[in-house]
Amino acid sequence: MRLSQFHLRTSKETPAEAEIVSHKLMLKAGMIRKLAAGLYTWSPLGLRVLRKVERAVREEMNAAGAIEVLMPAVQPKELWEETGRWEKFGGQLLKMQDRKEAWYCFGPTHEEVVTDFARNELASYKQLPVNFYQIQTKFRDEIRPRFGVMRAREFLMKDAYSFHVTDEDLGREYRNMYDTYGRIFTRLGLKFRAVFADTGAIGGSASHEFHVLADSGEDAIAFSDGSDYAANVELAEAVSPGPRPAAAEAMRKVDTPTQKTCEDVAALLGIELARTVKSVAIVGADADGQPQFALALVRGDHVVNEIKLSKLAGLAEYRLASEAEILEHLGAQPGFLGPVAPAKPVRVIADRSVAALADFVVGANDNGYHLAGVNWGRDLAEPGEVADIRNAVAGDPSPDGRGTLGIARGIEVGHVFQLGRKYAEAMKLSVLDETGKAATPAMGCYGIGVSRIVAAAIEQNHDDAGIAWPDAMAPWQAVVCVINPKNDAAVAEAAQALYRDLLAAGVDAALDDRGLRPGAMFADMELIGVPHRVVVSERGLAAGSFEYRHRRAAEAENLDRAAVLARIA
Ligand code: ATP
Ligand code: MG
Ligand code: MG
Ligand code: MG
Repeated sequence: MRLSQFHLRTSKETPAEAEIVSHKLMLKAGMIRKLAAGLYTWSPLGLRVLRKVERAVREEMNAAGAIEVLMPAVQPKELWEETGRWEKFGGQLLKMQDRKEAWYCFGPTHEEVVTDFARNELASYKQLPVNFYQIQTKFRDEIRPRFGVMRAREFLMKDAYSFHVTDEDLGREYRNMYDTYGRIFTRLGLKFRAVFADTGAIGGSASHEFHVLADSGEDAIAFSDGSDYAANVELAEAVSPGPRPAAAEAMRKVDTPTQKTCEDVAALLGIELARTVKSVAIVGADADGQPQFALALVRGDHVVNEIKLSKLAGLAEYRLASEAEILEHLGAQPGFLGPVAPAKPVRVIADRSVAALADFVVGANDNGYHLAGVNWGRDLAEPGEVADIRNAVAGDPSPDGRGTLGIARGIEVGHVFQLGRKYAEAMKLSVLDETGKAATPAMGCYGIGVSRIVAAAIEQNHDDAGIAWPDAMAPWQAVVCVINPKNDAAVAEAAQALYRDLLAAGVDAALDDRGLRPGAMFADMELIGVPHRVVVSERGLAAGSFEYRHRRAAEAENLDRAAVLARIA
C-alpha cells in the first residue's frame, strides 16, 4: 500500500471524550469515527486491523473443524417467542417493526436463528456433530455504551453453535473450542486467561470466559497462584475467616444511602473483603436519615438474595426472595427508602439501571465468615465507582484449596457455553438417532468479540508514542519511509525497490511516500503501531544502508538491504 494513495488521518489532539487508552489511541490514529452512541465507522486503517483479527479467528475456526455460515442480522419475533426470550432478554434487545407492522429484533446473538436453521437442515445423527459459525454484526442496546468499540452497541462477533447426539460429544467439542480460543488469542499476541463464568442470559451448564488482562478491564478475575483455578469475580465465592462486624456500631457510621464502594464499607465495618457475589443494590435509609440498608443480591436480572444490613449482627438473615417479595417487603415499610422512591430500587434492579445500585455487600455467614460482593459495574457503575478489591482479597485461600487468590482486571473477549438442550427442546429440534428414534441434540455456543479484541489488544500494547501492535494484528507489518521523495529521485527509487522486495517476500508492507517531514512521518507510524520501520534517506543511501527500527526497540540500526529483509520477512 502506498500511503499517498491511502486515507490516513491521524490527530495530535487527545480526544476529551475518551477515558481509556485504547479509545484515545483509536481516535488519534483515526481508526474509528463515532456516528452516534455505540455506533462507529471503521476507517480504512481501522478496518485493516479488524480484518486481521477476523482472519485469525476464521482460519483457526476452520482448522478446528467449524463450518462458516452467515445468518440474517434481523430476526423475527416469533422465533424469540419460542424460547421466551422476546420478553426475557431485556432492554438490550432492539425491537423494530416492518411496514406490515410485524415485529423483528436486530440480533444480539443467534441461538434462535441457528436452532431454526438446524431443525430444517439436520435430520439424522449421521449429520452430527456439526459446528456452524459466522462472523457478523450484532446489536445490543447497551445501557451504557462506552470505551469506543470496547462496549459498543453495534459490534462484530464471531459466534459458533455446535450440535451433538450425546453430552459427552458436546463436552469434547467444548474442549476443542476452548483449545481453539487459546490458539486464537495466542496467535493474536494477547496475554489472556480463561476463567469460570456465569452462564447469564444465554443459559446452560458449563461456561468459561476468556479475558485479556488489562487494568482498564470492566471485569475482575480471581485466580489462584497455586493451581489453574480462575473465575470471574462476580462468580468467585471465596470465603475468608475473620471477626464478625459490630453491625450496630458500623451502621451508625454508614451515612445516608448512596453508592459506597466495597472498600469504603469494608473500612467502615472494619472487616476484610472476601467472598464475592454478583450485582448488589442498596435500597436506602429511612426518612429520619437513619441508615437502614437492605441489600439485594442479584444475578443477571434476577434478585436472588436479600440481606437487611441492620440485622447483620444476627447473621443468617439471607434468604431467597423474589422480586415481588422484596417489593412487598419495601411497601410494608413506608419511608424505609428515605429519599428513594419506594418502588424504585426493585424496578431499577430489574432494569439494570445505575440509580439505586451500589458496589458492595457485606455480611457474614453463621460460621463467622464475611461475605463481600462488588458490583463490578459492566452496565451498572462508573469505572471510578467500582472498588478494586485486589488488595483486600489478595492472600485468601483459593476455593479449590490450592494456592492463594489474586485479583486481576480483565476484558471479556471470548465466551464458551455448554447450552445443553435448552434451545433444542424449546424449538423442537430433533434428529433420528442410531435406533431410528427421535433424539434432541445437545448444543454448545461459542462467542468472540472480534471488534472488542482490537481495543483490548491496544490496552495491552501501547506506549507514550502510540500503539505497538502484535504482528498478527498490525495494519501493515512494515513501512518503508521515504525522506524527501518528491525532490530526490534516487531515494524514491530505492525506497520503491525495497518496498517491492518486501512485498515479494510476502510481507504486508506500506510505502510512506506522502512526503511528510521525517518527524511527522515517524510520529504517525509510531502512533498507528507498524512493527517494522525502514527509513530510506540520501545519507543512508550514500552509506549503502537503511535505518531500521522495530516499534518496540529503543534505538534504530543501520542495516544493509539483506539484513533489513532478514529482520522483517
Ligand atoms: P459483557 O459481559 O462484556 O457485556 P457478554 O457476556 O454480554 O459481554 P457474550 O454474550 O458472551 O457477551 O458475547 C460474546 C462476546 O461478544 C463477548 O465475550 C465480548 O467479547 C463480545 N461483546 C459482548 N458485548 C459487546 C459489546 N457491547 N461491544 C463489543 N463486544 C461485545
Ligand atoms: Mg453483556
Ligand atoms: Mg459477560
Ligand atoms: Mg459473556
